[in-house]
Amino acid sequence: MAQRTRAVKKTSRKRGKDASRTPAGSTGAKTGVWSGSGTKCVDCEALCCKYISVEIDAPEDQESVDHLRWFLYHDKVSIYIQDGQWHLCVDVRCKQLKDDKKCRIHYDKPDICKGHGTDECEFGNPDFKLDAEFKDWDDLRTYLKRQGFPQ
Ligand code: SF4
Ligand code: SF4
Repeated sequence: MAQRTRAVKKTSRKRGKDASRTPAGSTGAKTGVWSGSGTKCVDCEALCCKYISVEIDAPEDQESVDHLRWFLYHDKVSIYIQDGQWHLCVDVRCKQLKDDKKCRIHYDKPDICKGHGTDECEFGNPDFKLDAEFKDWDDLRTYLKRQGFPQ
């Protein structure tokens, strides 16, 4: 089988997200509603525990674009750019997330979870922005065309 994951570099976890994300190419982000008092996570639906995200290389040639096309043909997969860095995102709920929105393994959760704070997450943050987001191949193809990427 061909080497199918060569573009993946390392894990990243900087964004929360919800069901109403922004259109491809938009620089805005839906941030959810935070009452402004108490702990943000209480008002949030545990957005950051319902996806995984990895940094990937920006496409440089037709082969790497074709890898991204393959990614985007899959359910629950999207690609976004944040601060110039490309990310592959998969909308999947963590198995350790309980129905009460608490973490089943709070005291032994992965370092990436320990390092994720409310200051950097999307929820209740009107300044949170993505450079672009692609929910499917058509989104990305349109973006690349707009950027003058050879088709
Ligand atoms: S860190 Fe942010 S995205 Fe995660 S549960 Fe708390 S408010 Fe929601
Ligand atoms: S391990 Fe806990 S904190 Fe980390 S994603 Fe899963 S439920 Fe959330």
